[in-house]
Amino acid sequence: MGEENLEAQAIVVGAGPAGLMAAHKLAKEGLEVIVVERGQYAGAKNLSGLLYSTVLSEAVPDFPSKAPLERPVCKRAMGFLAPESFTLLSFGSSKWSVPPHNQTWVVYRAQFDRWLASQVEEAGGTILEGTVVEELFYEEEGSMTKVSGVRIRGEEEPFRAPVVILAEGAVGLVTERARSRLKMHSGEKPQSYGLGIKEIWALPASTIEDRFGLDPGCGAAMEWVGSPFQGLVGGGFLYTGKESLALGLIVKLESMTKAKVSPQDLMEGFKANPEIRKYLKGGELLEYGAHLIPEGGPRAVGQLSQHGLLIVGDAAGLVNASMYHEGANLAMLSGRLAAEAVIQAHLLGDFSRESLSLYDRMLKESFLMEDLSRLKNIERAHMVFPRLMAELPSRFANLLVDLFEQAPVPKREIRKHAFQRALDGLPKLQTLLDLWKMRGMLG
Ligand SMILES: Cc1cc2nc3c(=O)[nH]c(=O)nc-3n(C[C@H](O)[C@H](O)[C@H](O)COP(=O)(O)OP(=O)(O)OC[C@H]3O[C@@H](n4cnc5c(N)ncnc54)[C@H](O)[C@@H]3O)c2cc1C
Repeated sequence: MGEENLEAQAIVVGAGPAGLMAAHKLAKEGLEVIVVERGQYAGAKNLSGLLYSTVLSEAVPDFPSKAPLERPVCKRAMGFLAPESFTLLSFGSSKWSVPPHNQTWVVYRAQFDRWLASQVEEAGGTILEGTVVEELFYEEEGSMTKVSGVRIRGEEEPFRAPVVILAEGAVGLVTERARSRLKMHSGEKPQSYGLGIKEIWALPASTIEDRFGLDPGCGAAMEWVGSPFQGLVGGGFLYTGKESLALGLIVKLESMTKAKVSPQDLMEGFKANPEIRKYLKGGELLEYGAHLIPEGGPRAVGQLSQHGLLIVGDAAGLVNASMYHEGANLAMLSGRLAAEAVIQAHLLGDFSRESLSLYDRMLKESFLMEDLSRLKNIERAHMVFPRLMAELPSRFANLLVDLFEQAPVPKREIRKHAFQRALDGLPKLQTLLDLWKMRGMLG
């Protein structure tokens, strides 16, 4: 990096969806913005699979014809897995098979983030790849400490800008240190994390379409809970790419460590389930990765703006960890709102916390915070989840199997036996209470 590059109007740390959307907005406004990404390219370290595109479609309306999208999701399914049985609720709409495809896509982030980075460059922004931000650069102004840039690994001089957007993703070390140095208040409770693991399996497009019952070009998204997850808080997913499947799981880290279960064992158990195994048959494992996801909900979100600083995306804990598991779209929304606050700050020439807290206000009024605020009781739901998962998936799957059992007896007896078996020994009041608490996960 030459001396002439050591100043910008805004620096973004991290080229994930949050940082790239912030940079895209800033560059479009004509601001000189530089995104610093430690990976060899944007998306090199990212994993996620489903992209809700409501925010992207506002920024790049013609993205469906430009972005590397794997398949639109035309069909969704939610299932219970039990050792010897399963239940699968599959649903869709003819509307999902035509544009705008319910704004739901399967994407591989390695390709998608790279494309989004190219949009930032097209708009006039700069992406510095393979470059690590080690620390923020601080300056004192009277009794106030403000952020005035970043320190890059291997560079002596700081890289200056009046405002830095931290988009480091989950468990960002620079973010953590900045919070402490700038005395930014934390959330009401510490952040908690889910561990996400994903594998990509190669399969021919026609095999995928046959196995999932899809029209050519259409995709499916399946989510599963039940026995492979050993009563832990979490579940698995299976998404269809063009010529590959993305199979993975997200399990609350705390419940995994408490139960002393290894993520590899969980993944092997998930893949070994006959209902899952059949989708992978004949496939070739292409890649594997693991990443943390903030799942603490609104009470784990702390202060997000300070003098010269804004925090966005997973680094800010802005993930909807309900059944929607929405991270990337919310990351993009927070990135865009942060950029709007930075644009306003440039107009005013004021990068103080007061000025930049426009971001907090816009966030509060957005659907993001509305959704997140509904997760304030998610911890209670997480507490009862293992108990319910130990009971319900197999009971429900067995009930359906038993209802259709063929025997030379009246059907009334078959039904009676099926319900008796399903309810036998079930603590009914407790289960009803648990189900009520589970609404905290609906989002
Ligand atoms: C297995 C798994 C499945 C998921 N599935 C979904 C899904 O289906 N749908 C969904 O919406 N969300 C999903 N998510 C969540 C989603 O991936 C995140 O919410 C989203 O990526 C957050 O975007 P971000 O830009 O905040 O952070 P990230 O995407 O994590 O990007 C942060 C970037 O910052 C870079 N960086 C970090 N530190 C530094 C540094 N010091 N210097 C320079 N660069 C740095 C990183 O290399 C990275 O590129 C999933 C997550 C996982 C782990």
